[in-house]
Amino acid sequence: MNYKMTPAQVQSAIREKLSHIYGVSAKNASDDEFYKASALVVRDLLVRGRDEFVHEAEKQETKQIYYLCMEFLLGRSLKNNLFNLGLEDSFRKALSEMGVKLDNLYEQEPDAGLGNGGLGRLAACFLDGLATQGYPAMGYSLRYEYGIFRQKLVEGWQTELPDFWLPGGEVWMQKVDESAIEVHFDGYIEEQWHDHYHSVRHKNYNPVMAIPYDLYVSGMDGKGISVLRIWRAEANEFDMKLFNSGNYMRAMEQKAMAETITKVLYPEDNHYEGKSLRLAQQYFLVSASVQDIVRRHLYTHSSLDDLPKLAAIHLNDTHPVLAIPELMRIMLDECGYEWDAAWDIVTRTIAYTNHTVMSEALECWSADLFKSRLPRIYQIVEEINRRFWIEMRAKGVDEGKIWRMAPLNDGYVRMANLAVYATHSTNGVSALHSEILKDSVFHDFYTEWPNKFKNVTNGIAHRRWLNQSNPELASLITELTGDGFIHDAAQLEKLMKYKDDTSVQKKLAEIKLHNKQRLAEHVKRTQGQIVDPNSIFDVQVKRLHEYKRQHMNALHILSVYQWLLENPNADYTPHTFFFGAKAAPGYYFAKEILQFIVCLADTINNDPRVNQKLRVIFVENYCVSWAELLTPAAEISEQISLAGTEASGTSNMKFMINGAITLGTLDGANVEIHDAVGDDNIILFGMTTPEVNSLRASGYNPRNQYEHNDIIRKAMDALGQGFNGKTFQNLHQALLNVDQYMALADFASYSHAQQKAEQLYKDQTKWNSMSLVNTAKAGIFAADRAIRDYANTIWLAKPVETKAETKKK
Ligand SMILES: *Cc1c(COP(=O)(O)O)cnc(C)c1O
Repeated sequence: MNYKMTPAQVQSAIREKLSHIYGVSAKNASDDEFYKASALVVRDLLVRGRDEFVHEAEKQETKQIYYLCMEFLLGRSLKNNLFNLGLEDSFRKALSEMGVKLDNLYEQEPDAGLGNGGLGRLAACFLDGLATQGYPAMGYSLRYEYGIFRQKLVEGWQTELPDFWLPGGEVWMQKVDESAIEVHFDGYIEEQWHDHYHSVRHKNYNPVMAIPYDLYVSGMDGKGISVLRIWRAEANEFDMKLFNSGNYMRAMEQKAMAETITKVLYPEDNHYEGKSLRLAQQYFLVSASVQDIVRRHLYTHSSLDDLPKLAAIHLNDTHPVLAIPELMRIMLDECGYEWDAAWDIVTRTIAYTNHTVMSEALECWSADLFKSRLPRIYQIVEEINRRFWIEMRAKGVDEGKIWRMAPLNDGYVRMANLAVYATHSTNGVSALHSEILKDSVFHDFYTEWPNKFKNVTNGIAHRRWLNQSNPELASLITELTGDGFIHDAAQLEKLMKYKDDTSVQKKLAEIKLHNKQRLAEHVKRTQGQIVDPNSIFDVQVKRLHEYKRQHMNALHILSVYQWLLENPNADYTPHTFFFGAKAAPGYYFAKEILQFIVCLADTINNDPRVNQKLRVIFVENYCVSWAELLTPAAEISEQISLAGTEASGTSNMKFMINGAITLGTLDGANVEIHDAVGDDNIILFGMTTPEVNSLRASGYNPRNQYEHNDIIRKAMDALGQGFNGKTFQNLHQALLNVDQYMALADFASYSHAQQKAEQLYKDQTKWNSMSLVNTAKAGIFAADRAIRDYANTIWLAKPVETKAETKKK
């Protein structure tokens, strides 16, 4: 489809939306109305483009990709869509003639925060990659009325405010009433069947309605467009009988209960929250989505026999794993399949990605809760479990091992076990993580089904994170190498030719400085804090979690502070350390770490003895839009998780492509970043995964570190005494006695790496050349590449051919 619009056409389309929808003329419209009118103009294009794309996909019988995920952290859409459709210039010109600045309209848009962190952002980047690579795809998620909470700090303590995103975010959605679906939590079985895996229908009273809202995500050039379908829960119908019989409260309650399901996003990250409402959310998502997928298939096919050929259902993490028993239920109870035939289709259609090795995040549900909430689904899980035992015993597997692998054991439904057993593919998200899955977390499964295990290293939507966030760098690259990298990030490698070109290095340094100034201005405007753009920008932004070790970073800063007080004339390149992080509201310890950082920052920033050399900025309410400002400005990318704990990371990739140097451990995708750039263009420190394992096995005692390292001791003592009138006893004690993520063990090596970074930075020629190499080698971390890997190794899907491509053949 041709998306071209002249500025005159853009103007008249915007005027029309303003007058028809908002009842204002362009003269009287506010920026907010202009933003919404612009969004609606773009949305119309996307809807038409999607229609055309889907039509072509159907003609070619292209496999559909269905990506199920409880989170999609989209951020803003207007800029992304204008860029991808090549309409930014027309809009800018059209608006400016009406006296409106496009950049101000971008600021009107709230972040769509339907996710917590990396997992949700990955899903959003993948919708872009799927569209750009030409795969007809639908993401499925929930339309949370409140997305990720807004973080507000009160004396350094995190408080959570509701995120009212719908008023500005809703313009992007199209409600599709005719595709509403009933979700029956207590099953939907009409008859009594003869064998044990069927049972009597529980008389069903009140299904919850799932109302779909579609959001469109364009790929580059708009050839492909993905849809994100998010479901809103609604009471089936207001129970007039109850109401009329005087039971007002019951009637109201039923309605409220139903609507609670899509009220809020669970603000949990890498942590398992076993609440009944969470289970309801998960089932609501998968039931509506799987029913929708089946319905779409049956529009054009008379049975589900060739579902595996025409559809790939992807489970992003364990949260949507109930899609497995749900698809079984539909096939058995509604489509008349026998078990074996249904099982074969289900297992060939569905694949699963694991995102964490941490045991507290591997979901399990109490069987009692599960059974009372989802009786029919529970029966199916029981039957899967029964057959699993038969199959494994027949293979001669030992009983203890079967028990460990079983979907049901010890009174729990084990979501990860169910996922690995019932799907044709399980993948990790970086080379290291995929090895750890085979070696430890899923070792039992690996020995039975080695071929199920795959790796697809994560990727980022590089057009958003490079072209849109860092336009100056993107245009320099275009000038030097052409614009091929926009479609094919591997072409960034062409930059390598300029590795030692001093004029290019100078330009890179200027661009970095502009991005640092832009960030400094934003920090000043939003938080009233002063930042020196000539200092080193060292950035750690990600969810707050002990395994990510923000506290190690802070403890190091504290030690630098102490050192500067003792050595006031020391030669120290001025540093600004940035943090941005939300803590899960119930994760008390993470909140204490956060408060430690904020109080330390206050102390340092207000100490005139050091504050010309050292500053610490905690950006409040870290989100995608903050990330878009921070990544282009960063010079050091802190990726300091304990080796073996971070599955992949994606902020490491965003920083890399923007030319920051990774200061990190050999963890997650840092390992592959190191492989790509070589020893000279990354700063590594800390233990490797085997070293961590052997230290743990030999009995790690953090007190040894405390006693034998003066710097650690001084910093720890200061932490124990507290700052700004706050004490951090829990943190102090936990580090001294347990230090679960071995921050003290890696501390000396980390400090050393920091010193090395400072030395390297003094040689600006060297530093800028390192920066260039990082950008040049970042191409493999594009979401486009990740999507092609999924398509080729897991989904076995081909992209839609454009007319031009078909002709060429
Ligand atoms: C990329 C991104 C993340 C993921 O960061 P990691 O360091 O990989 O955990 C989290 N939050 C936001 C807003 C992001 O853009």
